[in-house]
Amino acid sequence: MSIRLRLTLLYTAILALTLIAFSVILYLTLAQTTLGVVKDTLADEAKRLLSERSVDFVRRGLVITVPSSNRAIQNTFVQTRRLDGNIEFRSPNSVEADIELPLQAQVRTRVLEAGYAYDFATIRNTRFLVYSKPITYSERVVGVLQVARSLEDQDRALDVVRRTLLAGSSIAAILAFGIGWVLAGTALRPINRITQTAHAIGAERDFGRRVSHAGPQDEVGRLATTINTMLAALQGAYRQEAQALQAQRRFVADASHELRTPLTTIRGNIALLQRDPPISSTDRTAVLADMVDESERMSRLVHDLLSLARADAGRQLRRETVPIKPLIEDVCRKAKTLGPDRTIICAEVHNVAILGDPDALKQVLLILLDNALKFTPAPGEITLSTTVRNGRVRISVRDTGIGIASDTLQHIFERFYRGDSSRTGGGAGLGLAIAKALVDALDGTVSVASQLGVGSEFMIELPQAPLVGADTAEADAIAVNM
Ligand code: ADP
Repeated sequence: MSIRLRLTLLYTAILALTLIAFSVILYLTLAQTTLGVVKDTLADEAKRLLSERSVDFVRRGLVITVPSSNRAIQNTFVQTRRLDGNIEFRSPNSVEADIELPLQAQVRTRVLEAGYAYDFATIRNTRFLVYSKPITYSERVVGVLQVARSLEDQDRALDVVRRTLLAGSSIAAILAFGIGWVLAGTALRPINRITQTAHAIGAERDFGRRVSHAGPQDEVGRLATTINTMLAALQGAYRQEAQALQAQRRFVADASHELRTPLTTIRGNIALLQRDPPISSTDRTAVLADMVDESERMSRLVHDLLSLARADAGRQLRRETVPIKPLIEDVCRKAKTLGPDRTIICAEVHNVAILGDPDALKQVLLILLDNALKFTPAPGEITLSTTVRNGRVRISVRDTGIGIASDTLQHIFERFYRGDSSRTGGGAGLGLAIAKALVDALDGTVSVASQLGVGSEFMIELPQAPLVGADTAEADAIAVNM
């Protein structure tokens, strides 16, 4: 059963129950009130007849009659009976309509015991209310006075009320069902629309589509917003997955290609060495040197691939407080030996620490320095500096080398990407990719600013760690001029 039908049936049932309860209470109250009025009238009449001592059996022995002047109330039938049950007197209207009010034995007992009794009697298809009261003379009960009224009018009126309530309640319930059906439909329409859109999105896998909802931010509005937020997240994840898959495919293709080149060269060289007659000793020396070069290139490449795979796999990097001053000094020393014909400046080394892995950070700095040395011809200048801002430590490696063209700048962190300028460098285009993967794994960022022919600056930013028990004041800048 649909929610729409369930809701409609529910509020129709609630309304119907309310109407039934209301109608029953109204009907019973009305019936009681009208009957009460008749009862009071009859009791008053009987009291009046008796109190006015209108019963004139005194003079005529056992004859119990009511003077005609006292039979004034219209539609009230008066009758007296002797104790043996015989009718003694009937008012003229009773005689005229041939109405004889019954007095059953148990009613008579009740009259004598309680002093009065009400009873219903059906005479010629008409209901009567009969009030009976004992007639006493000299403190002795000598007969029973009965006054009665037809309940025809009351019954008819109550019948009309009953029919009206029944018809009114039925119409109200039917109307409520109709209106409820329309209202529930209107309220649920946006949900139907959302369901249809969500179904279409799922079927077409079109996560770029959104559920439209122009209404207020009520339950339905919030549902639409939640679904849209979920779709946006889904779209992002889907796109990311597609990109990752594509990147992985490209990576495997590039890696195979990179490994195939030195292998082909080595195989060619082996064929040369196997020649009969053998090649000259000068050629052999050249071929062997070539093979050594290619083997080294291949082992470098395999080493780089391994580093990258580990960084990708979320290799367990340590999270410890690393004071950067000794680290940078160490890297500077290495740089000086690697590029003795360039000026290496280690400036503004703050006495601060970062939260990370010292080996990973060293590897990143060496990659940046290696590139700076590779692309900065002598007598260029390479500067290492640190700044601290907003709880982040920034380490910058600036060179006055060949610089990077703006169109290649956006690609340099991609795997296997090499700029034209690097042809002489001999790298596989994995250095910056490894650096970025490591910095990402340390919750840091890496960025670059470069100008062709002027130089480049690579900046890494890492979260600062409190340097326990150390002087955090700025240390003197160390400048090492080579
Ligand atoms: P590789 O290991 O081949 O050097 P990288 O990923 O380290 O590869 O660098 C990618 C490319 O970025 C290089 O081929 C080069 O074109 C460019 N590049 C990196 N560092 C510098 C720099 N300091 N100056 C100029 N170009 C650079």
